[in-house]
Amino acid sequence: MTATLTDFQAAGFPMGAEPLVALDLVDTQALCLDPVRDLIADEAEHARWWALQADRLPDAAPPAISATRRLRALLRSLFEAALTGATPDPALVADLNAVAAAVPTSPRLDGWGAQARASVRWHDDYNGHPALAAIAGESIRLLADPERLGKLRACANPACSMMFLAENKRRMWCAANVCGNRARVARHYEKTRG
Ligand SMILES: [Zn+2]
Repeated sequence: MTATLTDFQAAGFPMGAEPLVALDLVDTQALCLDPVRDLIADEAEHARWWALQADRLPDAAPPAISATRRLRALLRSLFEAALTGATPDPALVADLNAVAAAVPTSPRLDGWGAQARASVRWHDDYNGHPALAAIAGESIRLLADPERLGKLRACANPACSMMFLAENKRRMWCAANVCGNRARVARHYEKTRG
């Protein structure tokens, strides 16, 4: 199977639509496919994924694929630990903090008078990447917010690797029309067979 990011979107997986970029990032690794499919494996797909997220991240050229993947693996480990009630290796938490700390921010006044706007300046002069730091930052806020973290779920389809934030308490599936449908069809099959 050569599913691409576009195929996943067309199938109804909410790529680029999770409330947190961090979850969209984790979901670019489709562990449910055999062989495992990395939706950002080539330059073009990687750039397309970052373009999807551009509106909600600081303005910057995409990082190297290896850096994106490193953060993705780190986030999956931490989110899986949160989901299973495990305590992750403290080195993983230190890594997350380091990604966030690599790009400090400061408040910045743009314009004056009626045009005055408070914005954020991302200091990327320390070899960090602003978008990766922003994703690490939102992940830190999620992991430190028990109520919100309680909404973190893995798709109820055991064969699916997607994670999401169930802002609707009843959400069980990454995509109702993909994994939800599959489950409905399976249930129907069981019933009619019995
Ligand atoms: Zn799913």
